[in-house]
Amino acid sequence: MGSIACKFGGSSVACAERIRQLQKIVQMDERRRYIVVSAPGKRNQKGKKGKKEKKITDLLYLCHGLAKQGLGITEPFTIIRNRYLEIAQELGVHVDIEGLLDQVYQKIKSGASEDFVASRGEYLCARIIADYLEATFIDAAEVIRFRHDGSVDEETYKRLSDRLDDSGLYVIPGFYGTTHEGEIKTFTRGGSDITGSIVARAIHAEIYENWTDVSGFLMADPTIVEDSKPMRKVTYRELRELAYMGAKVFHEEAISPVYQAKIPINILNSHCPENRGTMISHQRDTTAHTIVGIAGKPGFSLIYIEKFLMNQEHGFGRRVLEILESHGISYEHSPTGIDSMSVIISDEQLDDKAEIVKNEIQNMLNPDRVEVQHGLALIATVGEGMAYRPGIAARLFTALGEAGVNVRTIDQGSSEINIIVGVEAVDYERAVRAIYEAFC
Ligand code: ASP
Repeated sequence: MGSIACKFGGSSVACAERIRQLQKIVQMDERRRYIVVSAPGKRNQKGKKGKKEKKITDLLYLCHGLAKQGLGITEPFTIIRNRYLEIAQELGVHVDIEGLLDQVYQKIKSGASEDFVASRGEYLCARIIADYLEATFIDAAEVIRFRHDGSVDEETYKRLSDRLDDSGLYVIPGFYGTTHEGEIKTFTRGGSDITGSIVARAIHAEIYENWTDVSGFLMADPTIVEDSKPMRKVTYRELRELAYMGAKVFHEEAISPVYQAKIPINILNSHCPENRGTMISHQRDTTAHTIVGIAGKPGFSLIYIEKFLMNQEHGFGRRVLEILESHGISYEHSPTGIDSMSVIISDEQLDDKAEIVKNEIQNMLNPDRVEVQHGLALIATVGEGMAYRPGIAARLFTALGEAGVNVRTIDQGSSEINIIVGVEAVDYERAVRAIYEAFC
């Protein structure tokens, strides 16, 4: 029998009721035996007294910050304590959660590191859930190892597979591990996704299930396209393109362990487990959906350079890029013509250096014209199905034309799974809607 690694995010472990639901989900499929959990997240948008509730991890960071300044932590720690006590009581678990909370409190007061403090959110949660499910608790500190450069040491996989057999039920806290010196270290925020992915690879899982509070990804940003359709299947390559262009998808670092092991990721909704969610895999059948999604964002500028006979001048492009490099600016794309080239740069990168860069290009390359145009938005239309299929670009540009959107730049990567257009920022949302209507 194959096995499934499941990661439950903060909203899926936010209270006793959600943990009961987690148990139901685990029991629905006997292959679900390796459970990675986040720290309890927000139960709802507003807390009991109408205030916005905080995630446990945020409260722990707050406690650490206060303790570091020599300030009291009673208020935030009481919230943390009550959340865990409430969960433990409602579930009727045997673990001495009070004792564990006291230890965490003392550690924070005596100057424990930020990473240690933050990691306690998942640690306590996993202790409760392991007890509730009558599963074996495996402390991530004993199995997940970080190298000095912050990457995950390969020995992690051996440690995990030594501890996880193929008959038991296991609960592992996400988000942290230890350095070779034995110090607790966390991943970046949202890092339980990475732990889940590592566990999935270690046990050669059939699927890595990532349980959230949404039924997978949507084909377009729902704040722009109301009722956007869900993305049922997406390939890793497509997802990468979408994430790069700003779609809020999956923790990027979490992709790599399962990607290498060719394990599909299923993004599921713990509120409605029967929904199929989104399946991310190496390949998909593109007959039903040529295009898988649309992503984009405003906030780009374009440096346009024109020089007669530019195409005969050796090293012109290189010198332009060298000027950018010397200012620590990285660029997105560089659409070129015979005697013109342009470089698209995010405003964040360009910052306040636009004038300096423009002057340097003018002085060093002596072009006929150089100008910086701000207010550009990029939109990526992504789909493996567009490769070798005629008519996709025509459909895209017809849709934009009919919506009255002026296309400023066009870039189709050689991978042929992505067409990126640059439009005026004011046309951005209209353009996304037009592309969605044409393809989705
Ligand atoms: N609890 C951590 C965070 O809030 C990690 C996670 O939930 O994945 O970032």
